[in-house]
Amino acid sequence: MNIHEYQGKSILSQFGVTVQRGYVASTPEEATAVAEKLQAETGTGWFVVKAQIHAGGRGKGEVTETGSRGVVLAKGLGEVAEKAKGILGGHLVTLQTKAEGKLVQSVLIAEDVYSPGASEPREFYMSILLDRAAGRNVIVYSPDGGMNIEEVAEKTPERIFKELIDPMTGVTDFQGRNIAFNLGLSGGAFKEMISFTKKLYNAYVGCDASMFEINPVLKTSDDRILAVDAKVTLDGNGLFRHPDYAAMRDTTEEDPIEVEAGEAGLNYVNLDGNVGCMVNGAGLAMATMDIIKLSGGEPANFLDVGGTADAKRVETAFRMILRDTTVKAILVNIFGGIVRCDRVAQGVVDAYKNIGDIQVPIIVRLQGTNAVEAKKLIDESGLAVHSAITLQEAADQVKAVLNA
Ligand code: GDP
Ligand code: MN
Repeated sequence: MNIHEYQGKSILSQFGVTVQRGYVASTPEEATAVAEKLQAETGTGWFVVKAQIHAGGRGKGEVTETGSRGVVLAKGLGEVAEKAKGILGGHLVTLQTKAEGKLVQSVLIAEDVYSPGASEPREFYMSILLDRAAGRNVIVYSPDGGMNIEEVAEKTPERIFKELIDPMTGVTDFQGRNIAFNLGLSGGAFKEMISFTKKLYNAYVGCDASMFEINPVLKTSDDRILAVDAKVTLDGNGLFRHPDYAAMRDTTEEDPIEVEAGEAGLNYVNLDGNVGCMVNGAGLAMATMDIIKLSGGEPANFLDVGGTADAKRVETAFRMILRDTTVKAILVNIFGGIVRCDRVAQGVVDAYKNIGDIQVPIIVRLQGTNAVEAKKLIDESGLAVHSAITLQEAADQVKAVLNA
């Protein structure tokens, strides 16, 4: 589950990670009010106004309606409302959003932490995620943080460092020093970075995250280390342990069809192709998507109806797939292990009748318990549903339908 920057920062704070301070606001008036509060608390004179959307690249992104960037500096309290107005209610287009952008419903008003001083502020990159090959969490970091990290990865990959973390020890002192050293730090900032990294890692484990991306981590001109940005992805499977984090979910940022599917207990991911698929089990769903590609189609979705593919779920799944108007064919691929194929077949037939007026050809491949009975049921239903028992038959039928 993705959350907003201001929410990510609040989680980091709970674990003692130093963050750029700020408050969220949803109107220009509220923006000024929270800026005043922030000024009273931190003494800051300048502020950054940051669009809160579930996408990165905001600093370089542009609000369609006003031409404002998604992250802007307000040089004084007097500028806050006007800058917030340029962002709120507009659509922010970044490299990570679709072309129409994302509606900005709130802004984070944060203290300006880039003020000049004894030394230059410096921007670093730091992320934490699971290295599946190593079977361990990994801290990925670079001394060249900021808004061009993708370019660093492409042109100077040697400037990106990795530290694999042993789950038994967490970040060790040695690893902390290694990170601070590779970031080119010394003195107070060196020590601060070690403690920052340890706390960040503990936060990652403690909140059941699946990804942290802090870009930039800032060394201020007075040698403090703080998180200026926070992209936090929480592991949905761990949310039952954190009702307060679960409440941070913002479904308006998510694909509405996927939200609805989640509520119906279906695992659904919308894709760009033309063949809808309905499968029980994630592994079989992946294999089915391969088969669709091999037969010349492109999967329109990933859909796992789960182990208990009953008639109700099959119907919901059909409705879901049919809402996507680019779908030219639907392939239903069910393996009857626990579930009986004839039950699923009956579900398909019932769903077809209930929904009515289905124009898209449906190919149903049922294999496993009572597969033969299931095929018979479908063949005798009189509906425009093609049945198959082997995957090859199903693939051939998809091909025939697409070429028809
Ligand atoms: P992103 O573009 O979506 O990753 O948003 P960030 O939160 O990383 O902000 C983008 C950029 O805004 C950062 O890389 C900084 O250069 C700049 N920025 C963020 N906070 C401040 C601040 O307090 N003062 C100034 N002057 N710039 C800031
Ligand atoms: Mn960033």
